[in-house]
Amino acid sequence: MITCKSPREVDQMRRSGRLTARVLEKLTGAVAPGVTTREIDAYAEELIRAEGGVPAFLGYQGFAGSICTSVDDEIVHGIPGTRRLREGQLLKIDIGARVDGWFSDMATTVAVGKVGNRARRLMDATRCALGQGIRQVRPGAHLSDIGHAVQSYVEAQGFSVVRALVGHGIGRRLHEEPPVPNYGRPGLGTVLRPGMVLAIEPMVNEGTWRVRTLDDRWTVVTADGKLSAHFEHTVAVTAEGFEILTLPEAEARPNWVPDDLRCEKGGTDDATTTAAAG
Ligand code: MG
Repeated sequence: MITCKSPREVDQMRRSGRLTARVLEKLTGAVAPGVTTREIDAYAEELIRAEGGVPAFLGYQGFAGSICTSVDDEIVHGIPGTRRLREGQLLKIDIGARVDGWFSDMATTVAVGKVGNRARRLMDATRCALGQGIRQVRPGAHLSDIGHAVQSYVEAQGFSVVRALVGHGIGRRLHEEPPVPNYGRPGLGTVLRPGMVLAIEPMVNEGTWRVRTLDDRWTVVTADGKLSAHFEHTVAVTAEGFEILTLPEAEARPNWVPDDLRCEKGGTDDATTTAAAG
């Protein structure tokens, strides 16, 4: 059962999304070699609560952090802890908040200091793939158009998309129907309608798409130990197309994909250019 939110409800979700976006921006600025993931987690909880929100992941099925912090080959669901970040690592921060009963969910990948070329390319490809997926969102489009756009772009770059984990609907609950895969054939499944709100979140691996879960029963890693990147936004289907709800107020507007989600040299048809350049 997919719930469609009223314009008023979407507005409440927008408030939640903006809070999450503001907090994540500050967390990103705090990432540096020597900082522990627990310190970033504590900062996240402080910032979310200071703005009147509740960390969505804290206590979720027993999760011990306010955010997920996943490093290098860790894809998602990494538990914040005492390990210190090191120059050259890729840190994925996944963050969710509940504001007045409405959830928002967002993730980014941050380079710790200076990272290698391949890590940089992986980040750029994942960010761009999220942008390509979001551009598919409009009334009448099929849900699978999103995953198809993500997978096509990612594989053209020589990377792979994770199958075992997918995006999701979001609203009064963190995870709602429908699942939003990052792969598949276009034109299938649910037809998008105004008021649907989706968390779109490509998880992109440098090597194999296969994953395994660590003994902590949370952290999902790449099966081959190679790098992974993750970006996520909460996106509403509007009458005219889409709106990303997890953007700072100054950046948010209808049918707008921010610059950092645009593919290098812009547009949807430069995949070959970028691949050749890499
Ligand atoms: Mg999510």
